[in-house]
Amino acid sequence: MRYAAMKEVTRLPAEAKALVIAVDGPAGAGKSTVAQAVAKRLGYVYIDTGAMYRALTLQAARCGVSPEDGQGLVRLLQNTDIRLVNHPDDKGKNRVLLNGEDVTEAIRSPDVSQAVSKVASHPEVRKHMVRMQQALAAEGGVVMDGRDIGTTVLPNAELKVYLTADASARAERRWRELRAAGHDADLEDVYKSILERDRQDKERAESPLRAADDAVVIDSTNCPIDEVVNKVLELVAERTSQHASGR
Ligand code: C5P
Repeated sequence: MRYAAMKEVTRLPAEAKALVIAVDGPAGAGKSTVAQAVAKRLGYVYIDTGAMYRALTLQAARCGVSPEDGQGLVRLLQNTDIRLVNHPDDKGKNRVLLNGEDVTEAIRSPDVSQAVSKVASHPEVRKHMVRMQQALAAEGGVVMDGRDIGTTVLPNAELKVYLTADASARAERRWRELRAAGHDADLEDVYKSILERDRQDKERAESPLRAADDAVVIDSTNCPIDEVVNKVLELVAERTSQHASGR
C-alpha cells in the first residue's frame, strides 16, 4: 500500500476550523453512518480504517496468504495498492480500490468479515496501517472511524467519540445492511460473528478496542442515528469554540 496513493481521498472545502475527529466502537454501532454524515455536514474528509484492514484481508485470501501469517501480510501490504476515494455521488462513503479494482462491495462479504479481525490482530500489520492513517489525518478536517483511532492512531484528536449499542441491535443493523446489499445472511450467524469480532478486537494484545479516557461515549441502542449525528455536531461546535478561545 502506498501512502501517496492513499492521499487521493478527496479533500472537501472546510467551513470552520478543521478539527480531527475520532470515532471508535464495536461492529454495527453505526460508526460509519455517523462519521460519514458528520464529515459531509462539516465538509471534512471521511476515512474508513476498517476498509483498509478489509481490503488487505481480501487480497490475502486472493493471494493465498494466511490470516495467521503476520510477516506475510506485511509483505503483501507493501506490494498492494489500496486507495480510498470519496466520490460526490456516494454520499460521503469511501470507495475502495484494490490494485485499481473497485472492491467496495467485495470487502463486506461474510468471508472477509470473518477473517479480518485475525488479520488486524498482528502488531506488525497494525504498525503499517497506523502510520498510513496518521499521514492521512495530518492536515486536519478529518473524521476517521475504527477501533483504535482515539487511543492509538490519533491520540491528540480534538474530539473522540466512542459509539456503542447492544450486540443484538448491532447484529440486526448489520443483517439489514447485508440483505440490502444482496447477501443471503442469517441473523443468528451475523449475531455470532459480531460477538466473535468483539471478542477478538477487545482481547487482542495490540491496541485493543476500548474507549479512550477522554472519549465521549454514546449508546445508540435506542437512539436514532440522526440524533447521534446531531449530538456529535453539537460536540464539534463546542470543541471549535473552545479552540477559537484557546482553551
Ligand atoms: O469497521 P469494520 O467493521 O469494517 O472493521 C473490520 C475489522 O477491522 C474490525 O472488526 C477490526 O478487527 C479491524 N479494525 C481494527 N482497527 C481499526 C479498524 C478496523 O482493528 N482501526
